[in-house]
Amino acid sequence: MYPELCAVCGEALVRQEQHICMACLNAFPQTGFHTWPGNEVERRFWGKVPVERGIAFFYYDKESALQQAIFQLKYRGEKELGTVLGRYAGTALAEAGVYDAVDVIVPVPLHPKKRAKRGYNQSEWIARGLAEKINKPMDTEHLAHQTENASQTHKSLFDRYLNMQGVFALTDPLAFAHKHVLLVDDVITTGSTLEACIQALLHSPGVKVSVFALAMAH
Ligand SMILES: [Zn+2]
Repeated sequence: MYPELCAVCGEALVRQEQHICMACLNAFPQTGFHTWPGNEVERRFWGKVPVERGIAFFYYDKESALQQAIFQLKYRGEKELGTVLGRYAGTALAEAGVYDAVDVIVPVPLHPKKRAKRGYNQSEWIARGLAEKINKPMDTEHLAHQTENASQTHKSLFDRYLNMQGVFALTDPLAFAHKHVLLVDDVITTGSTLEACIQALLHSPGVKVSVFALAMAH
């Protein structure tokens, strides 16, 4: 047994801590967006696609401790750190009840090549922690990132459900019919990835979409 260290500050973790210490977690700047309808995340989609509730939990600054945590999560194999962060946010969001009306959680899919190289999708690991706390199921099957060489056999089927940007597609257009989907991403920068996902989801009749990101650049 060797002591586990905090992925951010390098201090030895105490018993109930995993991957990151409470001091680092509590020091990340929180947006409070879950108490703020019409916040910056929601405004980003106004006039583009309908979003029920949009939340980024932390503010993200370059050279910050949070950037270091997200770097570890994305590029250093610290996928469980995503789940710890998702749980942390999920605890506050469950208490506030903001996502009570959600039916299913869908992580933003990575490009299959990127996913293969990394070995995992960090948004899926964030979504896992969130799902645990807000007590909702997760679906990683029905929203897909398009590959350039999708086989001809599937092409005509896929083509009908391509979104405007053609990056994301539903593998079954009825997968989210009349469901309230919570899309989960790591960091919102322009919001264009989420927008493309929402465009794809809107091919399901009667679908509603909410958004959660761990952080937002500002
Ligand atoms: Zn720490």
